[in-house]
Amino acid sequence: MNQNTYPTSPVMPEMFEGDKVIQFRCHKGIACFNACCRSIDISLTPYDILRLKKRLSLTSTEFLEHFTFPFEMEANGIAGVKLKPVENGTACQFMTDEGCSVYEDRPTACRYYPVALLSMRKQDEYVDREAYALVKEEHCLGHYEQRSLTIDDYRNEQGLEPFDEASRGWRQLILKKKSSGPTIGKPSKRSLQLFFMACYDLDRFREFVTSESFNTIYTISDEERATWASDEVLLQFAFRFLRQVLFGEESIKMSEDAVFVRRKQVEDERMRLELEAAALRAQQEEGPMDEDE
Ligand code: SF4
Ligand code: SF4
Repeated sequence: MNQNTYPTSPVMPEMFEGDKVIQFRCHKGIACFNACCRSIDISLTPYDILRLKKRLSLTSTEFLEHFTFPFEMEANGIAGVKLKPVENGTACQFMTDEGCSVYEDRPTACRYYPVALLSMRKQDEYVDREAYALVKEEHCLGHYEQRSLTIDDYRNEQGLEPFDEASRGWRQLILKKKSSGPTIGKPSKRSLQLFFMACYDLDRFREFVTSESFNTIYTISDEERATWASDEVLLQFAFRFLRQVLFGEESIKMSEDAVFVRRKQVEDERMRLELEAAALRAQQEEGPMDEDE
């Protein structure tokens, strides 16, 4: 199954709305049963990880270590996570002769297949749009089954609503990063690490936000802190935190001292980028050095 949620794909396939009628049915008796799970390339959303780690009674850190590998969504870009296949093979670790062993908690990409969710933002628009594409792979015989339904009905059947809803904030962060254009130099290692921890390693993020150092910087009420017992609530806070740290959308109150330090860091970072840009311009204006010089 070569299926991702395509938040950053440079190739724009034919796009459809939810009312598009598709012909498709997948069932246990079909000749290609399990074919799609024998060779996987599946990106996980933060909510996929939350569901799977719960299902397997693991911490997010343990789940990431055993069942995933990290990848970069675009050069110098954003950290992503993919399902790790079986050792020395391409099949999914959750595949059995009977089908998917984590079926009720299977990832978003597996639910969508053969539909793909496309998230995009037009340059002159402030709203994110969602559209769909259809993936037709040779080995998948489901396209020849006599059943027609709209993509909206297919999404309902596959229980996608809570998955899409819970990871919407993550997709928006990726779009925001994309539409903010190329940055000079790599994003700092710390911001990449923060993104990875907040989105994918939720149990570590919980340790981080309940630590003393976090609480000397941010002012969080006891009521709000109590809601973090729920992974689902904490995940939404993680997206909010990242919007603040990465894009300056301040919604979490900071202590006076922390505000001062943060402003200084922002100013230092702005200076660093300006100096890098000036150095780059100077180098371009000088042109290549003559060998005899
Ligand atoms: S998680 Fe389940 S449906 Fe998805 S690739 Fe693995 S076995 Fe197949
Ligand atoms: S019909 Fe397609 S999705 Fe279903 S088992 Fe066959 S290859 Fe996989």
